[in-house]
Amino acid sequence: MTISSALPTQSASATELAGLDRRFLVHPHQRMDRNDRVVIVRGEGATVWDAAGNELVDATGGGNWLSQVGHGRRELAEAAAEQISTLEYYTGFFDYSNDKAIELAYRLNQLSPEGIDRVFLTSGGSDSVESAIKSARLYHNRRGEPNRTWILARHFGYHGASYGSGTATGFEMMQTYVGPNLPNVEKLSPVWPYHHEMYGGGDVTDALIAELEGAIERIGAGNIAAMIGEPVMAGGGVHEPPADYWPRVREVLSRNGILLIADEVVTGFGRTGSWFDSATRGMKPDMITIAKGLTSGYIPMGGLLMSDAIAEVVTSNEGFFHGYTYAGHPVAAAVALANLDIIEKEGLIGRSLTVGDWFKSSLAPARDLPQVGDVRVIGATVGIELVVSKQTKEPMMIPIVAEGVADAVRREHNVIVRPYGNVIVMSPPLVIGEDQVRRTAEATIEVLSRLGADGQ
Ligand code: PLP
Repeated sequence: MTISSALPTQSASATELAGLDRRFLVHPHQRMDRNDRVVIVRGEGATVWDAAGNELVDATGGGNWLSQVGHGRRELAEAAAEQISTLEYYTGFFDYSNDKAIELAYRLNQLSPEGIDRVFLTSGGSDSVESAIKSARLYHNRRGEPNRTWILARHFGYHGASYGSGTATGFEMMQTYVGPNLPNVEKLSPVWPYHHEMYGGGDVTDALIAELEGAIERIGAGNIAAMIGEPVMAGGGVHEPPADYWPRVREVLSRNGILLIADEVVTGFGRTGSWFDSATRGMKPDMITIAKGLTSGYIPMGGLLMSDAIAEVVTSNEGFFHGYTYAGHPVAAAVALANLDIIEKEGLIGRSLTVGDWFKSSLAPARDLPQVGDVRVIGATVGIELVVSKQTKEPMMIPIVAEGVADAVRREHNVIVRPYGNVIVMSPPLVIGEDQVRRTAEATIEVLSRLGADGQ
């Protein structure tokens, strides 16, 4: 058997590709009850093509909240090719570095919120969160408080799939059957202002602060290393906190010597209309995790941004014994720099807000549909929450309902949106056109208008 006959994919039809996929690929978050395969083979702007030749609007940013600059950008391909032919890799371990990683560190320093000055580069979001958790514990340990090991996180927060980040993640199915998980992780309530009835009917922030203070009292401030949270919860259903939430959380944490980690893997680089969402919400984090929009997904890369004070401590004494082979990868750094150039030159941070305005106007009729409880638009990020009834706000939690809606939007209208629990999410490339936003909204509204209270 020749090697080429063992790799029949080049000439395979869409159906054959789907069959080969089922046979050979294990997908991240693969579910046994889903047998469809949507094989994407090409992209340009906010449009992608599948193996059968269908042209689809990508209203999801590569299906994963990224693709800030849109698909198919030659500038990024050229940056990668140029760097590969100059220096494809050299380690960043120990004393070694490369010019592109240094340039990226400088650039991130210029863009990041005040007080956040250094970067530890990683290969993605989970690595960045893992690094943040380790750094928080190491920081306290080195400063003579080794009992500070607990991490506060929130139900429905998404932070990754490795053991630390996966335990901080607020979805139990990711921790089931794979234990023991990371010890000393406490989950608090999410911020979900639409369901203010969940917080005892009073002020949402007051209730959440009381819960946080209660947890600190119970665990003991001297045992807690850090709290981690997304400034705007993304995978949990697109929830914007009340304006006073993060400033008050910050105040409680500071009073108790607890670090704050802003997980900006989704919200960073324009997704919600700013370079760093935490900077607009009075969060004042000690560390920020980034990935996704850093390279628009053209190449895997993430990072952990931290204050000078934390960097000084974690690299002190014997040093920082943590790091990944591909940390500061020169090709990834070159692509990230070219990506940041495009975001800056094309004004994509501001455009994110314009995209949000287009969504707000085109999705306005969705608010009147009986099964739509809430439509949330934060920059170029949208969450449409499905409910059994507008009066009771009971979430339409049967996962297959939102999945069925997303399936129908794709199959019948050639538009890709993504289901998360009872929420339909849109997070398109920031270069998406107004016509594509309108098409996405109209397709989603058409499918939602057929939905009954029983989810059928
Ligand atoms: N943090 C947040 C907020 C995320 O949404 C994700 C992934 O979606 C991660 C961390 C994990 O990133 P990765 O999948 O690159 O490991």
